[in-house]
Amino acid sequence: MNQQAFLSRRIVTPEGVRPGALVVEGELIRDVVAPDRVPAGAEIHDFGDAAILPGLVDSHVHINEPGRAEWEGFETATRAAAAGGYTLLVDMPLNCLPATTTVHALEAKRAAAQNRCLVDWMAWGGVVADNQLHIEELANAGVAGFKCFLIHPGIDGFTMVTEAQLRAALPHVARTGLPLLVHAELPGPVDSAAQRLGGADWSHYHVYLQSRPEEAELSAIAFLLSLCREYKFRLHIVHLSACQALPLLCAARAEGLPVSVETCPHYLHFTAETIPNGATLFECAPPIRSAENREELWKGLREGTIDLVATDHSPCPPEMKRPTEGSFRTAWGGIAGLSLALPVMYTEASKRGFGLIDIARWMAEGPARLAGCQERKGRLAKGYDADFVIFDPESEFVVSEERLHYRHPVSPYLGEKLRGVVQATYLRGRPVYAKGEFPGKPIGREYQHE
Ligand SMILES: [Zn+2]
Repeated sequence: MNQQAFLSRRIVTPEGVRPGALVVEGELIRDVVAPDRVPAGAEIHDFGDAAILPGLVDSHVHINEPGRAEWEGFETATRAAAAGGYTLLVDMPLNCLPATTTVHALEAKRAAAQNRCLVDWMAWGGVVADNQLHIEELANAGVAGFKCFLIHPGIDGFTMVTEAQLRAALPHVARTGLPLLVHAELPGPVDSAAQRLGGADWSHYHVYLQSRPEEAELSAIAFLLSLCREYKFRLHIVHLSACQALPLLCAARAEGLPVSVETCPHYLHFTAETIPNGATLFECAPPIRSAENREELWKGLREGTIDLVATDHSPCPPEMKRPTEGSFRTAWGGIAGLSLALPVMYTEASKRGFGLIDIARWMAEGPARLAGCQERKGRLAKGYDADFVIFDPESEFVVSEERLHYRHPVSPYLGEKLRGVVQATYLRGRPVYAKGEFPGKPIGREYQHE
């Protein structure tokens, strides 16, 4: 079989960053070797000083198809992913119609994805008010795990779960051995804040911030940890925003509870103090908090309490961001991040003394482990899928619409100067993105949990 050798002075492997060659045979990594050990006859691609990172895995993406393809879709989401250095997306079970809460709905999603993906994908299943009896069937049908909401998700078609409904679901979840990802905000503190703020001016960001208080996250996480102790299921907290929850999560790990945590690039980059009034492009839930909070989240990454970084890529048609009235009460909450997450993270991480190896751990290896594909994805190592990114960490660029690549080119990052450029992305040994172009056919396929 034909061999290819990808040379770089900085190959990011689990053991460290080193000069060498990534030797690829067919769709797999055959080995990572020293520069003078390239097998004779291999086709050489020399990337010089540009780094080779493992293909990134995004365990939190809203592709919204079938049913809301006018928001996003498999073609556009995977195109943005390829341009951003991602080679595997795990799709959230909501915003699409039908929501992925039954095997029938999962099959509809598979049909929608057929032959249209530039990168690989997997599905999360939903846990909603009334689908307890579908949970194990979804696991058998190949979902990576499950997602539920403790608060109204802001959209119809996917219900939140009450404590009783969650308790009815948890024995099924525990039997599958798969993780349950939870949107951890409780309605109580959010509802009372909304009442208090009824007459306030909702074009002010600080009003929105007060409407999603830390207390909602803290009480939800404490509640979930007690359930985790009782039912012994794998708990994953999505998009942690409130840093006050970190000591609780750290103690839960010390106790040995099977809990993992993610945060998102927007919480690690933006700060509440600098969001202009009416700038609803910054709206997401839970909200972007203070600069001090942001630094504590970085500390959570440093100390390992936060395992991974996922985008929560959640686009919508531009008019749903209510650009004319600028009201944080009526705008859709969600930020699209797939095409920019790597440079955003590298810009912020490199300022704080982190390196490419940390980025690979947070954005490739960690999410792959959560999705259960850590034996095939998320590392540059022998036997793994030949998924990788050619990344120039020294170059800078200014974010413009042409770099976004998802369906609607709106973003709170427009105009920002970022550090680190994705030069090319390879999926199973073949280029799916190179210097602004998307060569070849859509070869992305579903990776099913076994
Ligand atoms: Zn989400």
